[in-house]
Amino acid sequence: MSNKQDIIDFLDQNQGKFIDVSDKIWDNPEIRFELKESADTLIEVLSSEGFSVERNVAEMKDAFIATYGSEGPVIGFLAEYDALSNLSQVADELTKKPIKEGAYGHACGHNALGAGSLAAAVAIKEYMNKNNMKATIKFFGCPAEESGSGKAFMAREGVFKGVDSLITWHPWTENKIWGTSSLANFQVYFNFKGVSAHAASAPHLGRSALDAAELMNIGVNYLREHIIDEARVHYAYLDVGGQSPNVVQPTSSLLYFIRAPKSQQVKEIYDRIVKIAQGAALMTETELEIKWDSACSEYIINDVLGKVMYENMELVGEIDYTDEEVNYAKKYVDTLDSVSILNHEKTMKNYFNGLPAQELESVIKAPLIKKLVPYSMIDKALPGSTDVGDASFNAPTVQLTAACYPAGTAPHSWQWVATGKSSILHKGLIYAAKVMAMTALDLLESPETINKAKEEFDERLGGQSYQNYIPLDVKPVQ
Ligand SMILES: [Zn+2]
Repeated sequence: MSNKQDIIDFLDQNQGKFIDVSDKIWDNPEIRFELKESADTLIEVLSSEGFSVERNVAEMKDAFIATYGSEGPVIGFLAEYDALSNLSQVADELTKKPIKEGAYGHACGHNALGAGSLAAAVAIKEYMNKNNMKATIKFFGCPAEESGSGKAFMAREGVFKGVDSLITWHPWTENKIWGTSSLANFQVYFNFKGVSAHAASAPHLGRSALDAAELMNIGVNYLREHIIDEARVHYAYLDVGGQSPNVVQPTSSLLYFIRAPKSQQVKEIYDRIVKIAQGAALMTETELEIKWDSACSEYIINDVLGKVMYENMELVGEIDYTDEEVNYAKKYVDTLDSVSILNHEKTMKNYFNGLPAQELESVIKAPLIKKLVPYSMIDKALPGSTDVGDASFNAPTVQLTAACYPAGTAPHSWQWVATGKSSILHKGLIYAAKVMAMTALDLLESPETINKAKEEFDERLGGQSYQNYIPLDVKPVQ
C-alpha cells in the first residue's frame, strides 16, 4: 500500500532546499545552451542525493541525465532552467524595472520548473529507498526550451527511449492538467547574397539581396491562402543589408517559424517555402543559403496518465494562501491593462463554465486562482510550440501547470520575473512536486497503468515512429 502522506510530509519538511535552488537559478539567469550555473545548481543536489549524473548529453554541455536505480519501471522527469533575453527585472517591484538594462530574466518560470522537477525526483527516490521499491528514476536536464529546442536534439540522440512514462510541469497562473497538443515548429534561416553597387549610378551592376528577401516574403504571403487554417508562418528580418538607400543591398537574412498541428504538415509547408525562396533567388540573381536553427514536434497528450495526475491534484488539494500573499498578487493584477483582464475573464469562463454564476464571478475576481481547473484532454493544438513535444513522441508524457503567478499575468512578462521569487511561486513549486512524485508512485505501483498509457500512446501515434526533421549536420548552437 502506498502512503502518499510520506511524500507530502517529505516535501513539506524539505521544501527549503528546493526553493533555494529555484531562487538561485532566478538570481543568475542564463539562456539557450549556455546554462552552466543553472545546470550545476541542479546537479549539485542530485549528486548529493545519490543520483549518478551524465553531462554533455547530445552534444550540449549543459544537458544532463541524472539516474537513480537500475531496475524496474523507468520514470523520467523533465526539467528546464533557461531564461529569456531582455527581461531583467527587480524582484517584487510593481513597475517594469530591470536589474540591468538588456540583461536576461526568468520570465517563464523555468527556475521553478527545474527545481520542482528536482523536488519530485528526490521525493520519489526517498520513498523508494524507505520502502525497498525497485525502480529507475531519470531526471532529464534539458537546455534551450525557449529557443533552440534542446529536447529535440536530445530526442534525436534517442535519450528518451526506454522510459516508461515522462512527467513534467510548467509554472502558470492556475492548477490544471496540460490537456492539449501544441504546434510542431521548424525554425529556419533564409540568407540571400547579392552584389552591391551604387544604387543611382550603377544599379544595373547590383543584385539586391533585400529584393530577394522581400520577394520571398511576398511569395509566402500568397502561399497563406493555400495552406491549412491551423498553420502559422511568421518571419523576422535579421539582416536588411545596410542602412543606406543609395547602395544595392548585398546581404539579407530572414528567420522563419513554420508551424502546424503535425510535423508532417510543417514539412509540406516548409518544402513549398523553400521553392518560393529559390524562386526569389532566381528572380534576383542572388544566392540562397538555407540554415536550420531547430525544430520541435507536436505534443502527444495521454489521457491515462492525465487522469492519474489529476486524481493526485485533487488529493493534494487547494494551495493555502495568506492574506499577505493575496494582497501581494492583487497589486500585480492592478498593473494589468484592460485587454489582459478581459482575456483572463474569458479564460476563466471557459475553464469553469460549469460553476454557478456567483462562484464563477469570485474565481474571476480572485488575485490568485486556488480552484483546480476541471479535467479535460482534447487532441487540439494550442497556438504555441514546445520541445516537450519531442520527448512526448518517445514516451507517454503527462504534465500539469501549477499556480505560481498572480491571476491574469502572462508568461514572458516583467510581472512573471518580478514575482518569480515570491512565496506564491514557492508554494506552486512544492505543490507541483507533490503531484508529480505521487503520480510517479501510482505508476510504480501499477504496471497495468503504465501499460495502458503505452497502449494509448501507440494508438495516438497510429504506427508512425518519431521523426526528427532537423538535418543531421545541424548541431545545437553552443
Ligand atoms: Zn516556459
